[in-house]
Amino acid sequence: MEKEKSEELEEDSIWEEGSFIRSLGADEIKEKMKTFHKKHDEDMRFSCRKCNKKISAHNKDWHARLCDECFNKECF
Ligand SMILES: [Zn+2]
Repeated sequence: MEKEKSEELEEDSIWEEGSFIRSLGADEIKEKMKTFHKKHDEDMRFSCRKCNKKISAHNKDWHARLCDECFNKECF
């Protein structure tokens, strides 16, 4: 019971964090979900818009096109 509940919560928090994607069309969401399931170090063919460090497709789509470092600085 407890475990089931926490899994549900995790699922919810994904949508809260990425609530901006609610405003996207279904196709755009599908495109984004592809990179959502990629690892942070997968598909490193983009660069951070702040420091130019190599970033993954995941970071491009989900971390405002920032590397983890810049993303954390921006958020905290
Ligand atoms: Zn950066």
